[in-house]
Amino acid sequence: MSDTLSIIVLIKQVPDIEKVRFDFETGRLDRSSAEAVINPFDLNALEAAVQIKERMGATVTAISMGPKTAENSLRDAIARGADRAILLTDTRFAGADTLATSYTLASAIKKLGVFDLVICGEKTIDGDTAQVGPEVAEFLGIPHVAYVEEIQEINRDSILVKSKMGKNYYLIELGFPGLITVTKDVNNPRLPTFRDKIRSRKTEITVWNAESLSKIAEIDRFGISGSPTSVVKVYAPHSESRKGQIFHGDVEDAAERIVDILKELNVTR
Ligand code: FAD
Repeated sequence: MSDTLSIIVLIKQVPDIEKVRFDFETGRLDRSSAEAVINPFDLNALEAAVQIKERMGATVTAISMGPKTAENSLRDAIARGADRAILLTDTRFAGADTLATSYTLASAIKKLGVFDLVICGEKTIDGDTAQVGPEVAEFLGIPHVAYVEEIQEINRDSILVKSKMGKNYYLIELGFPGLITVTKDVNNPRLPTFRDKIRSRKTEITVWNAESLSKIAEIDRFGISGSPTSVVKVYAPHSESRKGQIFHGDVEDAAERIVDILKELNVTR
């Protein structure tokens, strides 16, 4: 075991949600209509890793699976404090559902070898499933804690986190290696300085394709061939507004009328 923690941050490049257009004909986002940025929750994940690095020393590796342009987001991650970055890009990764995405990301982490902590955002602002973090943990066979709002303590062997599930808070100690997903409440992501941006432009980004992972993974489990899910249709659900009636006059008459209505609706007999 090395003295320094090894932290991996998973970063997804997403379209700027303020600007992106939705194509209702195809049910898809028109990704060309807006610039791509780091998923906002992944900025919190990165900030958490960099704060740990500043507190006790760590190497922070950012990994993203996506098109070649995702390199820009990884450079942004370097500018914000990551030490190195790996881009997983290949046409064989395309068309991946969350299972194939998680399998590919977990394969890359396995290829890296020894690590202590993986940090993900709680969810993305485009896919919004919140499945990838926990699925990556399952593929790696490590424990995970989702929806972390606060990192209370950390030492060389474990991390103590406060996680919010529904209305309840859980205080959980997670031994390493482990994975956490973080919410926006965990910290305030820093802005990179001009000097950091210049430095990040000179940093080499490691690029892995499907072949690079072939010793660790089965290639047909990547991309569309590894995806049991298919999207049949995307549509905005019809929203039913509440209907109300006001009964005037005698209270007993009104009560009887309400009972009749409930009977008609089969709510009561
Ligand atoms: P969430 O589970 O909400 O993300 C949680 C966290 O996981 C993130 O905060 C981040 O830390 C990490 N994470 C998620 N995705 C990545 C990533 N790619 N790299 C690094 N870290 C990540 N999307 C496409 O872009 N192209 C396609 O061709 C495509 N085809 C699809 C086909 C099908 C049938 C389906 C169901 C989905 C397809 N998608 C495609 C969407 C793709 O599956 C999701 O973008 C991906 O699985 C991540 O899911 P999510 O956005 O819900 O992430």
